[in-house]
Amino acid sequence: MTTTDATAVERQIAMVLDLNKCLGCQTCTVACKKLWNRDSGTGYAYWNNVETQPGQGYPRRWQETGGRTADGAVKRGEIPALDTDYGRAWTFNHEEVRTGVGGGAGKPWLRPDGQPQWGPNWDEDRGAGEHPESNHYFYLPRLCNHCTHPACLDACPRRAIYKRREDGIVLVDQDRCYGYRFCVEACPYKKVFFDPQRNVSTKCIFCLPRIEEGVAPACARQCPGRLRFVGYLDDPAGPIWKLVEKWKVALPLHPELGLGPNVFYVPPVGPVAFDGAGRLVEDAPRIPNELLERLFGPRVHEALRTVREERARRRRGEPSELMDLLIAYDWNQSFRLPVRAREVL
Ligand code: SF4
Ligand code: SF4
Repeated sequence: MTTTDATAVERQIAMVLDLNKCLGCQTCTVACKKLWNRDSGTGYAYWNNVETQPGQGYPRRWQETGGRTADGAVKRGEIPALDTDYGRAWTFNHEEVRTGVGGGAGKPWLRPDGQPQWGPNWDEDRGAGEHPESNHYFYLPRLCNHCTHPACLDACPRRAIYKRREDGIVLVDQDRCYGYRFCVEACPYKKVFFDPQRNVSTKCIFCLPRIEEGVAPACARQCPGRLRFVGYLDDPAGPIWKLVEKWKVALPLHPELGLGPNVFYVPPVGPVAFDGAGRLVEDAPRIPNELLERLFGPRVHEALRTVREERARRRRGEPSELMDLLIAYDWNQSFRLPVRAREVL
């Protein structure tokens, strides 16, 4: 089924990630990579990645090119370079370490071959600011947003990218794809990956076969932080609607790009700051508001205020639906997905 008309989508599946709970463990990255993406042509590609913010991200400076113009036209962007933007998978001196040969007097250290200058997570945990007063960072897991107005879809002259009517998942029809890579250029989140060996574009499929069986995507189901919620935007009994529409604490990444992302984030409240004498300053957030506004737009302030208020309510021993939801006592409550396989087939 092919449609460029977002209004033709009957329902929209979505994910919410609570950034206050991400450990940066990369379990989601590995779960996704092992399940879907082990072709030799896409060794460099991570449909799901987790990057440190502030930081350059993966691929490097991903948000700088592509997207849409003010009047909605698709903006031509750039194709990230394998060596300097994505970073090739490294090889290591395993044999040298195993045999002990070539390490001089002592046992050789495990180290990458050559002298890599860049790779995914090159700047992991570096962050910004000065210790101890203002150093800060947080983790930002990223995947395709299965946008309501996908730039990748509109950029494709072959109409090889389509948005499923039944759940809004954005897919590449690889039989139609001619490998032009206009989609890679156009996606400002840089979440389409080109496979040069098969000459096709590939991207996150929101674990479509799992979704049709009512099972959450691997990145969400295997997350030890229990910070991912999956369901439909229009389901008032589900976690997505409650976090996005009711509590308004879950926000899209870079809403100003105009693509209508359907992956949402609860912004990180972050630890409090210290003054010059090392004393806690209770009402001074350590993660700068400007950084959060740059990522999540102006609504971030209201979302942070709500999370802080509900946390305080809970600390006073009062009930809070929002905190119960975000804590995710029972992982089953984080996912609300009907079993659909038999209806679809
Ligand atoms: S995030 Fe990029 S690849 Fe995913 S639907 Fe949006 S424009 Fe397309
Ligand atoms: S698995 Fe969960 S906690 Fe670990 S990096 Fe991914 S989103 Fe964060």
